[in-house]
Amino acid sequence: MKVSRRGADRLKGGHVWVYRSDIVSADGVAPGALISVADDREKPLGTALYSSASQIAIRMISKDAVRDLDDLLRKRIQEAIAYRERVVRDTDAYRIVFSEADFLPGLIVDRYNDLLSLQVLTQAMDTEAVRQVIVSALSDRLAPAAIAERVDPRVRELEQLPARSSGLLQGEKKSTVFSMNGVRFHHEAFEGQKTGAFLDQRENYMAAAQYARGEALDVFCYHGGFALHLAQHCSKVTGVDSSRPALEVADRNATLNGREIEWIEANAFDLLRDYASSGQQYDTIVLDPPAFAKSKSNLETALRGYKELNLRALKMLRPGGILVTCSCSYHVSSADFLEVVTQASRDMHRNLRIVENRTQAKDHPILLAVPETAYLKCLVLSVS
Ligand code: SAH
Repeated sequence: MKVSRRGADRLKGGHVWVYRSDIVSADGVAPGALISVADDREKPLGTALYSSASQIAIRMISKDAVRDLDDLLRKRIQEAIAYRERVVRDTDAYRIVFSEADFLPGLIVDRYNDLLSLQVLTQAMDTEAVRQVIVSALSDRLAPAAIAERVDPRVRELEQLPARSSGLLQGEKKSTVFSMNGVRFHHEAFEGQKTGAFLDQRENYMAAAQYARGEALDVFCYHGGFALHLAQHCSKVTGVDSSRPALEVADRNATLNGREIEWIEANAFDLLRDYASSGQQYDTIVLDPPAFAKSKSNLETALRGYKELNLRALKMLRPGGILVTCSCSYHVSSADFLEVVTQASRDMHRNLRIVENRTQAKDHPILLAVPETAYLKCLVLSVS
């Protein structure tokens, strides 16, 4: 398949995507096909997986010619596992395959102790043959009790894949307990968001716990990832989320760890407004909202949302307090996020010091030439 000069330049720069507008011709190429990519002068650029539906028409899988896709997939999975063995510590729950960042575009695999949870995001990764290779490579290397597939119907629709339900691909076990940094969590293979937990925050939980003290508020707490870590050092911890099922799991997690945490079901914006105006005070506040900017078009609204949350939190923090503030919107850059938090500090007349400027955990690697792989921002700030 030939790509335009612009597409070729992108690949030569180390990116792995070519957009449909940079494809010279895709006539007769089957959805999900393995294709050789060349520039407009027929110079080979490597091998890619094709999608007939996505605006991202091709995702590179190798800079070389690929004769045996099964073999390459096995090798990539082994490399991904070996990378985690080098960089992941103190947990049996982490991301094993992170799509483009592991040169396995369209595949996500998370480990929760003895269960694996997998997500397929593209046509190429959805074929029966590819699924079999993935499942067998993962089982050979990790011998999990079960492998679950979590289906996001919206992703399948966008990728023009036939509807499919979530289910076990191997084994029978559907729930387990995993642990990170000495904190234990319940996991249900087919419940909750994403594949079950926000594993990308694992290292940030530790960072937050290191500085947390006094009375703490974990806003957008989900299953209590931050709250349970803060409870190791704080005198009182309160978690807030609008999802009752999430809080029910959070409460079971607190019991599992022998902690007492107060859980409040509320809209975080309303609760923060009420608490801030009634003079409620905290020593530690965590803000970890869902992605407000799902696309570039609502960036402004998203930034207003982040600013409002941070304003309210700053109003409630005692002098010397710790603010842990996060954004998982890819479209909000680190610079945008820092700017919003700075504006909030000016408006509230508070001085903020950056204690740590963090990102996603190392098992969600950031590929330097593919900026889309970096999405999580987490600032640990000291507030005076
Ligand atoms: N901090 C969590 C992840 C948070 S994900 C962790 O580390 O595991 C975002 C959470 O925000 C979800 O649990 C979702 O239920 C909740 N949420 C979304 N909108 C909300 C709102 N307006 N008020 C309160 N919670 C909200």
